[in-house]
Amino acid sequence: MKIAKVIVDVPASSTNQTFDYFVPEKFMDMLTVGMRVIVPFGPRKIMGFVVDFTSESSFNKLKDIIDVLDLTPVLTAELLELGKWVANETLSLSITALQAMLPQVLKSQYKKELVRMTDEELPEDIEHLFAGRDYIPFEEFESSSISYYQLQKLIETGDISIDYLVKSRITKKQVTMVKPAKDIFLLEEAVEDLSKSAKKQKQLLLFFIEYVHEMEQQVLLKKVQTTTGTVKALVEKGLLETYQKEVLRNPYNDDDFARTTPLELTTEQREAIQPINETIEANKHDVFLIHGVTGSGKTEIYLQAIQNVLNKDKEAIVLVPEISLTPQMVKRFKGRFGSNVAVMHSALSAGEKYDEWRRILRKEVKVVVGARSAVFAPFENLGIIIIDEEHETTYKQEDQPRYHARDVAIHRGESNHCPVILGSATPALESYARASKGVYKLSTLSERTNKKAMPEVEIIDMRNELHAGNRTMFSRALKDKIDKCLEKGEQIVLMLNRRGYSTFVMCRDCGHVKECPHCDIALTFHKNSNQLKCHYCSYEESVPEVCPECESDLIRYFGTGTQKVEESLTKLIPEARVIRMDVDTTRRKGSHEKLLSQFAEGKADILLGTQMIAKGLDFENVTLVGVLTADSMLHLPDFRSSEKTFQLLTQVSGRAGRHELPGEVVVQTYTPDHYSIELASHYNFNEFYKHEMSMRKAFQYPPYFYLALITVSHENNVKAIQSTQQIAQLLLKAVGGNTVVLGPTPSAIPRIKDRYRYQCMIKYRDEPHLRKYINKIKSVFADEVRKNDLLITVDMQPYHMM
Ligand code: ADP
Ligand code: ZN
Ligand code: ZN
Repeated sequence: MKIAKVIVDVPASSTNQTFDYFVPEKFMDMLTVGMRVIVPFGPRKIMGFVVDFTSESSFNKLKDIIDVLDLTPVLTAELLELGKWVANETLSLSITALQAMLPQVLKSQYKKELVRMTDEELPEDIEHLFAGRDYIPFEEFESSSISYYQLQKLIETGDISIDYLVKSRITKKQVTMVKPAKDIFLLEEAVEDLSKSAKKQKQLLLFFIEYVHEMEQQVLLKKVQTTTGTVKALVEKGLLETYQKEVLRNPYNDDDFARTTPLELTTEQREAIQPINETIEANKHDVFLIHGVTGSGKTEIYLQAIQNVLNKDKEAIVLVPEISLTPQMVKRFKGRFGSNVAVMHSALSAGEKYDEWRRILRKEVKVVVGARSAVFAPFENLGIIIIDEEHETTYKQEDQPRYHARDVAIHRGESNHCPVILGSATPALESYARASKGVYKLSTLSERTNKKAMPEVEIIDMRNELHAGNRTMFSRALKDKIDKCLEKGEQIVLMLNRRGYSTFVMCRDCGHVKECPHCDIALTFHKNSNQLKCHYCSYEESVPEVCPECESDLIRYFGTGTQKVEESLTKLIPEARVIRMDVDTTRRKGSHEKLLSQFAEGKADILLGTQMIAKGLDFENVTLVGVLTADSMLHLPDFRSSEKTFQLLTQVSGRAGRHELPGEVVVQTYTPDHYSIELASHYNFNEFYKHEMSMRKAFQYPPYFYLALITVSHENNVKAIQSTQQIAQLLLKAVGGNTVVLGPTPSAIPRIKDRYRYQCMIKYRDEPHLRKYINKIKSVFADEVRKNDLLITVDMQPYHMM
């Protein structure tokens, strides 16, 4: 008797194990690991993943699997193993880790249908089932006598496809196809029989007599210069037929990308790619760190390494930060590998994402370019994983499972015996430290491929501006340079480093700041709606006319939002045409791309935006980059704030003068002597690395120490602090003498949604059983968590100290 081990979709620690179920006869031949099933669980029917089979079970009274959701596995054996590893590394539930690898569509609802994918005759019983329809509800198959095994075979050959429906049928796109309904000689006869006036019909028939095949109606109408009416008339005469066909949505039109060919590599590039090619050849795992300034040709190295992988008939994953998934980046990969590339990013609709994912599963593509979660692409013959801008914190997921894509990539690289390439102009300290120790192989690209120097950076001390009576947020030097640029018809990128700043409402008389009543954080002012909003709990209220504390009417908003900068910019330089790019103007799908292409077409002089404009953009005509507030990030309660400032300044400077025209950078700051600003202005990564490492050592931070962050929250302040205290004490008892346990400390945002938050930070160098200890401590609190609404979250690699 076959028994399946199933991980059930009940996200609770008490169910974080496999459950055994009998495999009924009808599923016996087809059920494999990695498929999702429906199983009885208590009084409910729920979804689960089959992860293993066994012939014996220590449980008695096993129940049967009720249904099978997938006829081809959605998770490969490697991904199942990876899921186990992720769950263990991040201390998350197995089900959460497995779900994280699948597109959203598969997580929501389970309704499915069968779709006919071929016009060829199918086996008789299947034809009978479809009864002339193109798709049928899956239930019809279930109540038929056709075996799952037989259906599975047809799915494997591609004759039938299975589709998951999310409420409506949004998961797929159908097009109308037209084809001859009769043999060609019969069409020829029909042409003779047509009346003289039916010229259009005749023309269309003649086309098909020549063309014979099916054609998409839309294309046909254009090609033959005919109408749907004509098609319809011939359909009614039984000469043509139309039918619906599913097409996988491809959000990009592959014909739009001009094909490129490999460039002759520079000496530096050749030296960097050679050891990578050797590992590809030898099917070996290794991690390479390419440290190369912007424009030094890292992407060209990625492209050529991928080509070598494709030549071996293997597959490639390229991770880029969400924000740099710009058309420019996509173009580089589509331009080289055409329709072999799937693109995964959050701007795609759920259906589009699902289609891209299926293109991978069906082996229709060999390269995926995507944001963080693309690291789980279900390739089975992986030959390389590339992480561009590897220092970006967006590679860390801030939700369960709290994984870092770099760690997942390296784990997959090991399992697949393939190289992992990390690339950056400003590597993360952790990565550079590993490369310095020889754990990663380091290559350095020190020159831009066009031999152009990096643009000059001028630091402006804003305190002097204030003393000189300049109260605007634009220094005199920056204003001058903007004016000169405008005269020459060149373009400007202005970045407002928004993090750390927000627009809040403050009373100028008593200093009262309007805070969210549920979270200890200032409400953010939204000008368009004249509302105050909380960014943590979505609480909103209208702006008060007078101060609620002292009734003064001098209550104003403070801080610098991009909107406000735009206003003062147009006041200062009325003739400048400005495009503003921030979360507000890019919310709608496609608006990001649209604004960028407007700027590229020269429809504006100045691109003003937040961090999102620092990355990946490449505009020929940009000669001036201005950073309005370089130090706004420096004072955040985050030990990485210097590193982030250095990275951001380096990155945004790289936007200027990338082509023929030389570039300039102006950095405005109130702390011009800070080492991260000073060293970034000279592009001195090595010196920054040395300095920052000594700080990290002194304060016991990564990469010298590992961190783990436990956050406890509860509605009752005392309960929250006491539980955190208890956790800290239990930890202290368990860990070694060199490990530091800090806390309880209030979190940087001490209350969110009426829940008080405390944290406990663990700093350690060698604590091989830490995960076990934490799990044990969590189980001590299991009852409190279940019954008393205590929330304990653990982050084994915290990036957000908030
Ligand atoms: P990075 O990824 O390091 O910023 P890119 O790969 O984008 O660098 O290269 C910067 C520019 O130099 C691009 O326009 C690219 O086409 C060009 N380039 C890259 N490698 C070469 C090469 N070997 N010869 C000539 N041009 C190159
Ligand atoms: Zn007041
Ligand atoms: Zn709130």
